[in-house]
Amino acid sequence: MTARIIDGKSIAADLRGKIAAEVARLQAAHQLVPGIAVVQVGDNPASSVYVKSKSKAVADAGMRAFDHKLPENVSEAELLTLIGLLNADPKVNGILVQLPLPAHIDAQNVVAAIAADKDVDGFHPLNAGRHATGLPGLVPCTPLGCVLLAKTVLPLLAGLEAVVIGRSNIVGKPLVQLLLAENATVTVAHSKTRDLPGVCRRADVLIAAIGRPEMVRGDWIKPGAIVIDVGINRVPGEAGKSRIVGDVAFAEAEKIAGAITPVPGGVGPMTIACLLLNTLRAACAQNGLSFPAL
Ligand code: NDP
Repeated sequence: MTARIIDGKSIAADLRGKIAAEVARLQAAHQLVPGIAVVQVGDNPASSVYVKSKSKAVADAGMRAFDHKLPENVSEAELLTLIGLLNADPKVNGILVQLPLPAHIDAQNVVAAIAADKDVDGFHPLNAGRHATGLPGLVPCTPLGCVLLAKTVLPLLAGLEAVVIGRSNIVGKPLVQLLLAENATVTVAHSKTRDLPGVCRRADVLIAAIGRPEMVRGDWIKPGAIVIDVGINRVPGEAGKSRIVGDVAFAEAEKIAGAITPVPGGVGPMTIACLLLNTLRAACAQNGLSFPAL
């Protein structure tokens, strides 16, 4: 048996199409064009690639992208001033500051300075607290994408054993809240977890967000499980080139799992689609409009 491949690219394209249709409807009915400001500090090549693809996705959805590229040596005070201006700008419904930031800038200060209702990354402490206590708020994009992907296989996750490997604030922890909200029974594993393979073998839904190439082996997986691979790891490839692999040893895992996301083409595209979803959600909330069921 080989696993069903969860095609994140086409699932994300479908979601982006629905968002674009809703954006067109908002513009026609309310003259509202959702806008997102993407702030990049410095020239980190990986960040530049992400920023470019985010801005393109925003434009493709019919939204406005306001790109702000600041020099590597910009001061924290200057960055905070820009955020203050974006917070006050009604054309800007979402603000995203591309991380990581240079070492002389405190990323937590910057994230906390973003107006919580424009925090489309869902990293603001207020949104994290709202999420943890079951109040409405903006939810981080990658975890949201993971759960949406798992639900394309099984729409109801209630009662299932879910294991999340990784407890970062941007992926692992919000995933726990989202899975709890789906009524799954959730275990969070991390670098100090004993018998990680044994813990993983309990999982009906296994989500790996570790950042270690192909660490999760085939024999860690319960037969038939849904496996969502968040990892993006660059490893040496053929002819001196590099290639991207996930945190799961895909070739082994697809023989055991019931369904699995590929890397690339799994969680990555959903992260961007969920950023658009959050921007649409933020624009509706800021304009007193109800959020449509997509
Ligand atoms: P972090 O480095 O912040 O967190 C990694 C987590 O993995 C930590 O909780 C850590 O445990 C745990 N971990 C590390 N080593 C082990 C181990 N040997 N056994 C068990 N657990 C371990 O990473 P992120 O959460 O930011 O990202 C995780 C991965 O997801 C990365 O590959 C990243 O590139 C990718 N990513 C992909 C995105 C996408 O759009 N597809 C978006 C965001 C991230 P501890 O807390 O104990 O240190």
